[in-house]
Amino acid sequence: MRHLILLLLICCATGGYAKNQFAGVDIQFVRINISVDPAVKYIKGVTTHHFGLKTRQDRFLPVLLELSSELKVQSVIHGTKTLRFNHQGDSIIIFPQEVWGANDSISVQYEGVPESSGFGSVVFSKYGDTPMFWTLSEPDGAKDWYPCRQVNTDKYDSVQVVVSCPERYRSASNGIIISDTINNGIRTTTWMHRHKIAFYLVAVAVSEYEVSQEYIHLNNGDSVLYVNYYFRNQADQARKRTAKLIPAFKMLCDTFGTYPFADEKYGQAQFLWGGGMENQTMTFLMGFDPSLMIHELAHQWFGNTITCSRWTDVWINEGFAEWCEGFAEEIGVGRSNDPVSWRRRKIFSAASKPLGSIYVRDTTDVWEIFDTRMTYDKGCMLLHMLRTELGDQMFFGLLKYYIKHSPYRFANASSQNFFNLVNDYSGKDYTWFFDQWYYGRGTPIYRILWEQNTDKLLNVKIEQRRSDSSMTFFRAIVPIMIQGTNGESVFVRINNTDENQYFSLEPGFNVDKIIFDPYADIISWGSTTKEEKLSDNSSVKVHHEGSQITITSSNPKSYRHYLIQTFKHRVMQSGKIGSDGRVVVDLRRIPAGDYYIALEGDKSYFAKKITVSKKGQQHK
Ligand SMILES: [Zn+2]
Repeated sequence: MRHLILLLLICCATGGYAKNQFAGVDIQFVRINISVDPAVKYIKGVTTHHFGLKTRQDRFLPVLLELSSELKVQSVIHGTKTLRFNHQGDSIIIFPQEVWGANDSISVQYEGVPESSGFGSVVFSKYGDTPMFWTLSEPDGAKDWYPCRQVNTDKYDSVQVVVSCPERYRSASNGIIISDTINNGIRTTTWMHRHKIAFYLVAVAVSEYEVSQEYIHLNNGDSVLYVNYYFRNQADQARKRTAKLIPAFKMLCDTFGTYPFADEKYGQAQFLWGGGMENQTMTFLMGFDPSLMIHELAHQWFGNTITCSRWTDVWINEGFAEWCEGFAEEIGVGRSNDPVSWRRRKIFSAASKPLGSIYVRDTTDVWEIFDTRMTYDKGCMLLHMLRTELGDQMFFGLLKYYIKHSPYRFANASSQNFFNLVNDYSGKDYTWFFDQWYYGRGTPIYRILWEQNTDKLLNVKIEQRRSDSSMTFFRAIVPIMIQGTNGESVFVRINNTDENQYFSLEPGFNVDKIIFDPYADIISWGSTTKEEKLSDNSSVKVHHEGSQITITSSNPKSYRHYLIQTFKHRVMQSGKIGSDGRVVVDLRRIPAGDYYIALEGDKSYFAKKITVSKKGQQHK
């Protein structure tokens, strides 16, 4: 989902019943019959739930479904019998005749004038003079138009949506059309979707659509039916725009495995809500903006194939779909194909105000669940930074495994499930990463100081503040561009693991300036760079002989320890400096190559390049 306009959410109540007073059910197949005339604000429906019981004890207990109190339940049918029910608030409590069967079904007949909650869960509107009707059930609005269990983890095995409307209209829904008939001026269209589907991804739109169909031929040889429902008189213009999704469609299939519902279709239908909604196999959107189309399409993998377990974990849907938008920019199938500007906007949005975390603390607040800055913008940048940490090969391998082979496929994942998968897949513990970027608040703000010394070694000090006082330190890969006086440049990523860390680099040219994060890779806003005196060269003497270096400082208290590091900042050897300011370093265990030796103190830094030509035998 991506939104521009928000409305208030109305919460539901179960009228004093405790959870264990209801049968534990596993919903299997749901048939939703709905009659609607978009010109008349009224719906009539019959919804049949086929369900299994979780335990034998459950056969005595009532089944709980949710349905808005605005709609009136006419009857609940079980086989040929009517059942006793109690429609309290937005809950229908349905009592078994005697006991439920291990696999059973109930049909709820209802009608009334539906009222919207959330983002506009059930809407009668007009496009020009043309009436239209649509549903948008995420997060908790499905009950406003059909009786259901609003539980993300109880996915339906399959769903059938039967829509009856005046014959001049067409309906858009999930899966494929298995019958379309007209009787006495009423068109009845039966949609069938034979994949696991969460309750909120079922949807219906009805209007005077012009329908176009074509096939997308994927690089793996598969073909996918691509269906678009355009507003009347807009089809010619819109067709050019919907065609632009095809390269991105192929890209997503190549990156994450083929479209998960390739045996049915991918559809897009226009509606009048300011944004888009990724209904399974049938996205609803207002206009065919390339980024919006890619975002909603990406949800078919991230959000629909794998659905967030609870709304607390909505990042599992939105962070990934948003990241796919940026990835499309990167590989040339996005809106403007400028991934750096795209990410810069995300960083600005996420970091420009210091509030909040990606983790959703209050799921009764629809504004917090679908908080653009956190869930979407910080959420996609978290994935981008994870990619930097893991490297491309592991990152893409991980995502492909997650979507194609993990136990979460056609099921649900929590954010923590994903974090555990990252740790298992990589063999490393990234708990610190998710603690600071997902659960944590705020961002780091860097002050990068630099100085180039006489042997052209570039010394860099990374200082860090935090935009939120709850964070003590952000461990991160800090990207910088080093620019030379003759137009040279080199891009470097520095692994900043500690406060006030020093690094030495060998750019091979005279440095003119340093640019922080030139490619918008890290969430930080207001970071600066500055040339400043860092080293205290005058007080340190380095004497080398054989395989030993002797370092003497005339200010013994200035330095606490020494490091021998590669220019990729791998520490080869380290040790303390004596109280007399003297240390003898044995180089015999260091392989041949270029290194720098650094002395670090609280306020002082000294670095010098050394070359070891053969097992510590020579140096300079
Ligand atoms: Zn979305």
